[in-house]
Amino acid sequence: MEKEESENYTLAEAIKEAQRCLHCKVPGCKKGCPISNDIPDWIAELSKANFGNAMSIINAKSNLPAVCSRVCGHERQCEGSCVLAKKGEAIRIGKLEKFVSDFDSEAGWRHEAIPEKSRGRVAVIGSGPAGLTIAGDLSRQGFAVEIFEMEAEAGGVLKYGIPEYRLPKEVVRREINKIERLGVTFHLSTTAGKDFTVDDLFAQGFDAIFMGTGTGVPKRLDIPGIDHPGVRQAIRFLRRVGLYESGSMSRDEVMVAEGDKVAVIGCGNTAIDAARTALRMGASEVSIIYHRDIDKMAALRAEYDEAVREGVKFLWNSSVTNIVGGEGQRLKSVTVTSEDNSFEMPLDRLILAVGSVPASRIVSTTKGIEVDAKGYVLTRDYPYGMTTRKGVFAGGDVTNHPATVVHAMHDAKLVAEGIAKYIDAVKLMQSIQ
Ligand SMILES: Cc1cc2nc3c(=O)[nH]c(=O)nc-3n(C[C@H](O)[C@H](O)[C@H](O)COP(=O)(O)OP(=O)(O)OC[C@H]3O[C@@H](n4cnc5c(N)ncnc54)[C@H](O)[C@@H]3O)c2cc1C
Repeated sequence: MEKEESENYTLAEAIKEAQRCLHCKVPGCKKGCPISNDIPDWIAELSKANFGNAMSIINAKSNLPAVCSRVCGHERQCEGSCVLAKKGEAIRIGKLEKFVSDFDSEAGWRHEAIPEKSRGRVAVIGSGPAGLTIAGDLSRQGFAVEIFEMEAEAGGVLKYGIPEYRLPKEVVRREINKIERLGVTFHLSTTAGKDFTVDDLFAQGFDAIFMGTGTGVPKRLDIPGIDHPGVRQAIRFLRRVGLYESGSMSRDEVMVAEGDKVAVIGCGNTAIDAARTALRMGASEVSIIYHRDIDKMAALRAEYDEAVREGVKFLWNSSVTNIVGGEGQRLKSVTVTSEDNSFEMPLDRLILAVGSVPASRIVSTTKGIEVDAKGYVLTRDYPYGMTTRKGVFAGGDVTNHPATVVHAMHDAKLVAEGIAKYIDAVKLMQSIQ
């Protein structure tokens, strides 16, 4: 099993770093955080070594602090908005949040009692950051929440996408256990649209249903040779590596072998994860081919820097225009074309990381849920997150706007408010009829 690579503070270092916080009257860090985490408040508690208080303040806004501390783009959000960032001395908020949440779970403290579930029943389809946020927020507010997840383990992309070296699965499990302790029930290996439908859930007495089903269908490119088995999708490759690392898949089922030459098309987080993971699987050369310039890449700068440091090569303003298959599962080469150049690159494997769109399993088996031309579920602002089908809500990546963990969480927090208002209103109407 691969170890996490980012380091953690010692207790003394964490307190020292927390003591640097200026406690600004109008904290930029809080504004920079999509879920408005009360950062200066918990940092103040941490600076006095009140770890439990610090954790309680974080828990009030975030269901996944140990995850966010590891995968959020702090440089673009809280740390980038810290007043000390101008001098290049921003408080290391992500690292402090990691310290507090790890310290707390190692200590095994319990901060929350299980709330009474008397306000209504909510079914959540999908257990990624959006589904987990809905479950945590609504169960704290007295709703009985059940999660339906098609994979064998909960977590969505946190479990089956982001690699172990950036986000250990043990950390994800810890966060999910906290949500389970709030009284949330998980039904795993059960697929909406196949094993049951949205109508079945209503028939079982759920008052509202939330779709947090993400974007599980990878996009493909129309390049000659694209159907050769040497071309694979990044999200499928990362999933396989994850299964191999957890002992559920053999090494030869992971598509990159020792010494392979690998190229990845795309330059978002998924592309960089695929490239760095290919190196860890023993690839001898890994290149990222991107049709735009470095300032247009979606990946975080810190992730890019790490990839460069590890030896990933970047070809900017370049596209793959032809794929030549070799024997069996291997390729022979690809043609790489830029504005003023075209050359043959010898290659064993080509990995596509050019985005993904929602699957249609639920909307094709349920009447009344409208989607846009790309398959993203349409929702309204009041009650926030309700689809065109009454009582069915959606949020996170499946509705398109967010494309990061914390944006999916932010969206889901608003939908949780929408669901609570909707159920309360329906029950009030029923009580006066
Ligand atoms: C490789 C990779 C790396 C990334 N790195 C980062 C990063 O570093 N930082 C960051 O902020 N963001 C990152 N992202 C983006 C981030 O992970 C997503 O924005 C986020 O996970 C979206 O959350 P979600 O809950 O909407 O969907 P998902 O996490 O996709 O979860 C959807 C869940 O729904 C389940 N599901 C789908 N259909 C059904 C069905 N019919 N029945 C039952 N269950 C179903 C799926 O199995 C899944 O568990 C990364 C994404 C990828 C792919």
